[in-house]
Amino acid sequence: MLAICWPSGSWTGGSGVKIKENHWLPKLIRWPIRATAITLGQTIYLAGLAADNPGTVRHEAVHTLQFQETGWVRFLAIYVWDWLRGWRLWGSPRLAYLQIRFEQEAREVARRTTLLEVIPECVSVLRKPFGWKQLRVDQWAKV
Ligand SMILES: [Zn+2]
Repeated sequence: MLAICWPSGSWTGGSGVKIKENHWLPKLIRWPIRATAITLGQTIYLAGLAADNPGTVRHEAVHTLQFQETGWVRFLAIYVWDWLRGWRLWGSPRLAYLQIRFEQEAREVARRTTLLEVIPECVSVLRKPFGWKQLRVDQWAKV
């Protein structure tokens, strides 16, 4: 198990994020994308090992921060709302998934922080608090 360390300053997180490796939960999800990881609250479930998937861990770490900002109910409500809205706009559940604001932000942060590695016992990502709020479902974002 790895810990996620949040430096001070621009970070919105706290401690207590857990990473569960080689977990069955993400393997269950095959639609509309084949999931390699899923984050629920402050727990990241990985299909494989964190050390083999540093980009995925960074992506999921952003979701733990989003969960902290919104709480479970709002997170899931916004997630489903964005997805359904995107599906109507973009005509595909997979494209709609990519345009969910939480996914846009997680992708962008994971991409931008490629220099940070999964160092032992500590994963770090750098982001603006509530960064997802500046994003839009109805404008196509780079995927
Ligand atoms: Zn995601």
